[in-house]
Amino acid sequence: DLDTPERAQALWQKDKDHFIHPFTDFSRFGTHGCDIITESEGIHVQDAQGNRFIDGIAGLWCVNVGHGRREIGEAMAEQATRMAYFSTFNNLSNVPATLLADKLADLAPAHLNHVFYSCGGSAANDATVRLVHYYFNRLGKPSKKRIISRNNAYHGTTYMAASLTGIASNNWDFDTLDHLVTYLSEANCYRRPEGMSESAYCDHLVQEFEDTIARLGADNIAAFIAEPIMGAGGVLVAPEGYLRRMQAVCRKHDILLIADEVVTAFGRLGHFFASEAVFGVQPDIINCAKGLSSGYAPLGATLISDDMYEVLSRPQGPGGVLSTGFTYSGHPVSCAAALKNIEIMERERICDNVLEVGPYLEERLATLSRHATVGDVRGSHFMMCLENVADKTTRALLPVEARVGDRVADEAQARGLIIRPVGHLNIISPPLIWTREVVDQVVDILDQALSATT
Ligand code: PLP
Repeated sequence: DLDTPERAQALWQKDKDHFIHPFTDFSRFGTHGCDIITESEGIHVQDAQGNRFIDGIAGLWCVNVGHGRREIGEAMAEQATRMAYFSTFNNLSNVPATLLADKLADLAPAHLNHVFYSCGGSAANDATVRLVHYYFNRLGKPSKKRIISRNNAYHGTTYMAASLTGIASNNWDFDTLDHLVTYLSEANCYRRPEGMSESAYCDHLVQEFEDTIARLGADNIAAFIAEPIMGAGGVLVAPEGYLRRMQAVCRKHDILLIADEVVTAFGRLGHFFASEAVFGVQPDIINCAKGLSSGYAPLGATLISDDMYEVLSRPQGPGGVLSTGFTYSGHPVSCAAALKNIEIMERERICDNVLEVGPYLEERLATLSRHATVGDVRGSHFMMCLENVADKTTRALLPVEARVGDRVADEAQARGLIIRPVGHLNIISPPLIWTREVVDQVVDILDQALSATT
């Protein structure tokens, strides 16, 4: 119970002493520990002192159906008490894992009908690279190993996923598997070369891919991995037609296209999967996690094409099996959470809400560009970002020590809204149940927060 300052202080101390927080600047922990979130309901969360906030980041781009959904909790409890866990290795299975795989095959683009489960987005990307390498080995093309990623891409933090990640600061003083990954430029329309049109910029990015293939040799390249819209790297929306053209280059050179839809799937852009519905591409693999279970339970899924599955499922010969998977692949409680989550999304037409309210969010956030420090307001639907700059004309950045993203986020939090600072950026990735009224309230708070920061 945290109802007295002493009790809250004692818990903070335990946290500070023993919990190694991910992605945390320990110098910012201060003397009072951290913010401990104790309750959540709908679009709100509440901390240990009873302060209530609008959740502007859906937990961490994941609580898509909003907080406090009893039905999901009940579905999980029902599954946990009926059959909490049993292996899915070999030919063992469980009902929620099977039903969810069938449902995902139904929701995904038509050629993606096979699901490999993991425990989250990093693990899904990691497993994907193993499967892709195995696929080419089985096809007798063992030199096809390299994965093409992009600067500022975010694909997670297992060793392989961190190596696919192209955000330099994420890997400071960490090692990466450099023999397996090559990075292209990110598609950053805001910071594209001065005077270059968007379509010329697109040509330039596609040409860079072609040049890279010519340099490395298509025989050495297994796949290109891309978030349809880069998330943690700054909500970068690529130029029109970019992904389609990158897919065409992949096809020409026998390079697989992996769409990392850990953020963009499950409604954030108004569709269960964005690759085909929004960007017109048919990836060989789509990875999802986060919104798949709306964060109620850890779960990742790798959706694999029929063509690829045909190769992966070829018998190995005596004693051989597809030797990859996790104890918790297809965990029944997580899959039960995901099934209920999808049922809610369909019943409440949550994608339609995103298609309706998303453009309004974009339009209202765009008004914040009247602030001297807001260089760019970008994103799509419920995936948005403010880029803070020192000078709007030159797009020069403020010094890192100015901690502008942190300051804007702190000012917003003091006014009852949690958004995410990432360096000089502020990310807004709300639960998908925000209404127009909530958008108005949020934009008012951000307006005040930006005024207080500048
Ligand atoms: N891929 C993308 C695009 C992500 O945004 C994230 C997490 O933010 C991941 C992968 C990693 O997922 P997880 O943190 O569940 O391992």
